[in-house]
Amino acid sequence: MIPFLDMKSVYAELKPELDAAYARVMESGWYVLGKEVEAFEAEYAAFCGSKHCVGVGNGLEALEMVLRAWNIGPGDEVIVPSNTYIATWLAVTAVGATVVPVEPHPAGPNIDPERLAAAITPRTKAIMPVHLYGEPADMDPIMALASKHGLKVVEDVAQAQGSKVRGRRAGSIGHAGAHSFFPTKNIGAFGDGGAVTTDDPAVADRLRALRNYGSKVKYVNIERGFNSRLDELQAAFLRVKLKHLDRWNEKRRAVAALYDDKLAGIAGLGLPRTPQWAESAWHLYVVRTDRRADLMKALDRAGIGALIHYPIPPHLQQAYADLGLPKGSFPLAEKLAETVLSLPMGPHLQGDAVDKVADVVRRTLGNG
Ligand SMILES: *Cc1c(COP(=O)(O)O)cnc(C)c1O
Repeated sequence: MIPFLDMKSVYAELKPELDAAYARVMESGWYVLGKEVEAFEAEYAAFCGSKHCVGVGNGLEALEMVLRAWNIGPGDEVIVPSNTYIATWLAVTAVGATVVPVEPHPAGPNIDPERLAAAITPRTKAIMPVHLYGEPADMDPIMALASKHGLKVVEDVAQAQGSKVRGRRAGSIGHAGAHSFFPTKNIGAFGDGGAVTTDDPAVADRLRALRNYGSKVKYVNIERGFNSRLDELQAAFLRVKLKHLDRWNEKRRAVAALYDDKLAGIAGLGLPRTPQWAESAWHLYVVRTDRRADLMKALDRAGIGALIHYPIPPHLQQAYADLGLPKGSFPLAEKLAETVLSLPMGPHLQGDAVDKVADVVRRTLGNG
């Protein structure tokens, strides 16, 4: 059996450190908005190369609260990828703004900067690039366009903690970065968690109120906020994991390189291609094939976990039926949804397991 993601090894590797963090918080008698969150915020801001970090309840609310902090709402448009996890879109529609989807680059999963300019209207307020699968979006042309049109940029870093664009960490390049610490992400909590990174002190300040009922002074509410806080226990666990993030991402990179090598030259199999300027965090290793159903069946029979990220693009979800975007509206996103398959990936995946997965793929898709 080769699981898609080996979560148990994470705890096994870090058990002494995590158990010590648990005991420290439990014995402190203080569980929400305290010293651990403050320390994690400082450490994570430093890691990302951002001036501020605000810990929040999850990645979706991190995105949503950034839009709220920028006063984006009804009548405003936000450019989003057509190819993304639905959370990206949900954040925009939650504040009452309109999603304007843009197709991915033909060679990769992320928003195509070439297509961005055509999507900008007088109502556009922000761009929300997603670093999907851990591969950073091409931030330079996105930031140039944003600056030209006076737009805000919030990076969705949920899948790409630690990745780099031309040497800079994802989440520190846009005006804000929204991070998720869902357990399966590259740095995951043992429960839900999220954060916003930004260099803008006013935005950080507003987010500190927004996450806490719109309050900075107890029982004084300056606006209608959320209850969306990173708790002390999760912050303490994340402080432990942050120390290992770069090393774990290196291990993911080695797994990806091994897959690249073992899967080279299989006809009809598309492999991920990371641009020269990007250092991917390798959240997922995603291949493309028209024979996905056959491949999934063969992997399943061999006891290998594989998943589809994602089988239905946001515009074809029932949740967005009211937008009236029928099949055919975003053909590149639709084609990806029909052909992508994520192979097992993670910092604890062993080389012989990668060999075994690659063997099944090669045998199933023939010619080898
Ligand atoms: C996981 C994820 C989110 C949402 O994060 P949560 O913490 O689960 O709310 C947002 N965007 C993308 C691309 C994600 O993968």
